[in-house]
Amino acid sequence: MRVNLIHNQKWCCTCDKLKPVENFGTRAIGGRYSECKQCTSKRSKDWYYANTERALSNNLINLLRKKVVLKLGARCASPDCLVPGGCTDVRAIQIDHVHNDGAEERKKYGDALGPRGGQKPLSRSKTAAIYQLALEDTSGRYQLLCANCNVIKEHERRREQYRQRRQETANAAS
Ligand SMILES: [Zn+2]
Ligand SMILES: [Zn+2]
Repeated sequence: MRVNLIHNQKWCCTCDKLKPVENFGTRAIGGRYSECKQCTSKRSKDWYYANTERALSNNLINLLRKKVVLKLGARCASPDCLVPGGCTDVRAIQIDHVHNDGAEERKKYGDALGPRGGQKPLSRSKTAAIYQLALEDTSGRYQLLCANCNVIKEHERRREQYRQRRQETANAAS
């Protein structure tokens, strides 16, 4: 078995060289990566040059998303948010369709639903187009919700749908 840590040195799994541990980035969960920083940076540069178009469209999408989040106030709009005043953690912030017409919007932009009726991930150009719509919108169609509030809203919406359907069946029977 190969010893991975010898006198503060560590083997890189990519270039297979023994290097001082400082050359390895620290993981958020503790410990260090098994690939040295030099290899990681070379790999990401290589990827960037091989996929420039993709990298640029990723950047564009990130930029558009940031703009939409800023435009919509950068905090969860739910008055019942568990975070007092509304969650502001951008990692949990999601763009929500106030009138639940997100599925229609996706259809309009040409994305059919997946095999089980679930949402398929949107292509980059469509994602960018929808962010653009949100940026230009002045009618208040969009709001920000944190992931928590968004899940709760969806749950309530489905329960309401179910209640309505039961009511209709009852009305039809009587
Ligand atoms: Zn390396
Ligand atoms: Zn919230």
